[in-house]
Amino acid sequence: MKILIVGAGFGGLFTALALSQYPWKEERPQITLVDREDRFLFVPLLYELLTGELQTWEIAPPLVEVLEGTGVEFIQGEVKAIDPDQQACMLTDGRTLEGDYLVVAIGGQTPSFGIKGVTEYAIPFRTLAHAHRVEQRLRELEQKEYVRVAIVGAGASGVELACKIGDRLGSKGVISLLDRADIVLPNFDENLRKPAIKALEDRDVHLMMEKVIEKITEEGVVYRSVDGEAMETLPAGLILWTVGTAVPELITQSSLEKDERGYIQVTSTLQSSNYPRVFALGDLASCPLPEGKKAPLSAQVAYQQADFCAWNLWASIHKRPLLEFRYFELGTLISLGTTQAAASILGYGLSGPVAHILRRLVYLGRMPSSKHQWQVGVNWLSDALVRNLRTWASS
Ligand SMILES: Cc1cc2nc3c(=O)[nH]c(=O)nc-3n(C[C@H](O)[C@H](O)[C@H](O)COP(=O)(O)OP(=O)(O)OC[C@H]3O[C@@H](n4cnc5c(N)ncnc54)[C@H](O)[C@@H]3O)c2cc1C
Repeated sequence: MKILIVGAGFGGLFTALALSQYPWKEERPQITLVDREDRFLFVPLLYELLTGELQTWEIAPPLVEVLEGTGVEFIQGEVKAIDPDQQACMLTDGRTLEGDYLVVAIGGQTPSFGIKGVTEYAIPFRTLAHAHRVEQRLRELEQKEYVRVAIVGAGASGVELACKIGDRLGSKGVISLLDRADIVLPNFDENLRKPAIKALEDRDVHLMMEKVIEKITEEGVVYRSVDGEAMETLPAGLILWTVGTAVPELITQSSLEKDERGYIQVTSTLQSSNYPRVFALGDLASCPLPEGKKAPLSAQVAYQQADFCAWNLWASIHKRPLLEFRYFELGTLISLGTTQAAASILGYGLSGPVAHILRRLVYLGRMPSSKHQWQVGVNWLSDALVRNLRTWASS
């Protein structure tokens, strides 16, 4: 029996890890995990690379290390197409991989909405390569007197980036945050929005709400107001594009059934609605919840879905009943600069340095192997110790 998992992010990697831990009585299936990268990326900590708070090894452990001793086979390769009839995927290097079951978990991508200049002049923020591009651009711009940064999209990513970059640049930074909506964090509650607005104000971030982006040029962002015709240009040396998530093209082209927004339609057991031997989870899946809503797109959801997906694969193989996905929202955490964060947990809000420590601890607990958790935890502790000793010595 072969299980082929494409995408080693929160959905795919944690499905593979859960499967590898089951006490398989009969023949153990061959589990193959495919990803174009050689590292698992803990995306929620990507911002910390820009401030030097964390290093690549901490937030992106090599997949061969994470999978050591699990029996999961890792293949590095870029998937160019999926064949749900054969539970197979085709790689750009010409290889075809097949399984008895296929798990599709290649996540989402940042849409350009067909706006001119986005691909050429704006940088999305969801991969290590994006973070490295932003880092390089910031280093070039830091030679100048002022660094003008425009961030399009005032959701969590836009707000978190504005605060982190604000802390990095200090008084040198001129940061603007633009959105079509009339408020920042439109999909979040007041427990997060209030401290976020305060953090943005503290860093003098210009909030440019109700702005429609017309195009991006080498000089900056061309926009107009929601209710106006006149176009204006916001000059910027760095333009960040954080406007949400779309489904990758190869999913759009596959014969998997999609919902009205183009996401893979899955049943509550995470099976494709037209291919029961294909499972899909994470940012590309349209997953119904018992309350009649759809599962949000978040690492927390993908991480919880992974356990259900693994169980349902096991149950399918053993002809046992499958479980319906139940999402338990534990809370939301956002970083607000290098020392602060905000949390909304079961309706209660928490912000400041305590939320910052809580966020770090929660994320440490979600790292993919106990060895990696241990290495990162020790490093964070020793860093904190050295910092405190330095403060004590200089006082
Ligand atoms: C900057 C940022 C911050 C975030 N912060 C939070 C947060 O604080 N809390 C939270 O809950 N959520 C957060 N999210 C959302 C969260 O990261 C995603 O919802 C989550 O990663 C989705 O998991 P996934 O498995 O679907 O996709 P991913 O984790 O993105 O994994 C997809 C994997 O597929 C691989 N892949 C993609 N295309 C191919 C291909 N063609 N061939 C082979 N491999 C491929 C990728 O390399 C990747 O490893 C954040 C997102 C971003 C962008």
